Amino acid sequence: MIFGFGRNDEDEYEDEEIDLVLFQGTYSGVEVDISEHARLAEAGLNRAKELITDALERRAELIRIEPKGERTVAQFQVDGIAFAGGRMSKKEGTAVTQVLKLLSGLDIKQRKKPQNGILKAELDDVKYYLDIYSKPLGSGAERISINIIDVKNAKYGPDELGFNPLFQEKIRELTESKTGILLAAGPPGSGTTTTAFAIARGIDSYVFATYCFFDVSYRDLKNISPFERRDDEPLNEALRRLIRMEGDIAFVAPINDKEILETILEKQTELSIISELTAKDAAFAVEKLCKLSGDPTKIAEAVRGIFGQKLIRRLCEKCKQPYRPNPKLLKKVGLNESITTLYKNRKFDEEEDARPCKVCGGGGYIGRIAMLEMIEMTEGMKAVVAKGSSAADIKAQARKEKMLSFKDDGLRLVAEGITSLEELQRAFRV
Ligand SMILES: [Zn+2]
Repeated sequence: MIFGFGRNDEDEYEDEEIDLVLFQGTYSGVEVDISEHARLAEAGLNRAKELITDALERRAELIRIEPKGERTVAQFQVDGIAFAGGRMSKKEGTAVTQVLKLLSGLDIKQRKKPQNGILKAELDDVKYYLDIYSKPLGSGAERISINIIDVKNAKYGPDELGFNPLFQEKIRELTESKTGILLAAGPPGSGTTTTAFAIARGIDSYVFATYCFFDVSYRDLKNISPFERRDDEPLNEALRRLIRMEGDIAFVAPINDKEILETILEKQTELSIISELTAKDAAFAVEKLCKLSGDPTKIAEAVRGIFGQKLIRRLCEKCKQPYRPNPKLLKKVGLNESITTLYKNRKFDEEEDARPCKVCGGGGYIGRIAMLEMIEMTEGMKAVVAKGSSAADIKAQARKEKMLSFKDDGLRLVAEGITSLEELQRAFRV
């Protein structure tokens, strides 16, 4: 070094050293001794820590690690938007995958069946759960997806989630009779489970006793009691016991087969049932239920309401930019023409700004919020559903009856300055 000025390479290294995530054991309590896998640890532990640290620092909610061609590729998802998270050699990628499986308590020899486990982690005094899913891709290759949960800040209640105030009102109205089915519906990864929990948490806990019939893992069940199922007790028998105990509301696992659907159709005359199902949106969920049961009149009679959700990015409160919207534009998109201020994201310009916003990192958005839609089984809707109508006809009826739609709820969020028109348009394009 020619101009040393007392600095040497070692100092420089120290300056740049960052703290890596700490792995703190499995959520299930299964003991894992990494020292028994010294070679694997050597090949993948540090790289796995770097990768997870990078993802946490970028506020990712999801990491995917999978082989692509000759390499292994990591992808991060931040507020629903995918980013490249780095590449590795295939060998290193396999080691990282195996280390993460091992540490979350999964069987590293098993590469032919999907597995799920949770690894506890901590970075900068913040605790996380890394909810790890492995999926076989054939010939020993696997993809792992990691849902990242910030333990303290995870939200489950409708108020905490910023749901439309109408939501809780509707939940209470629709569970009042203590009969019928309430559902959350949406595509995978759209927050459907969160909405199902919000429905269960939105119930008036002073009046009704709500019981949960499945393993909720790390989710917070405030106001809901776990129902102790006997070994191998089928759902219909467990529900029968709850009815005898005079329980009011049952929160059951997702409807993914005809058997669960038939069980809850049979029991919903004696208690209110909350569940979820995978479908494109609420109207498609109704169509799917009718097909699955083979009897649309039963669905029309039993289902009280279905909520759908779409996640949309929130504007960063620190740097969002007010502007005066053109009344013509307001009219065109369906907003009140008297609105004088809307907000948009501040676009970080490298030449003009010395440094990006500290809160959002210059992206202009931080976190997400759900837009809701709802199909309520009114008399008019019942008649349409009982005929075995298509999702399109169900949607037309919902519009006719002015039921809450994604568009209405999204426009409410724009009017309140929580998100931007631009983001709303983006959410409808994808
Ligand atoms: Zn910002």
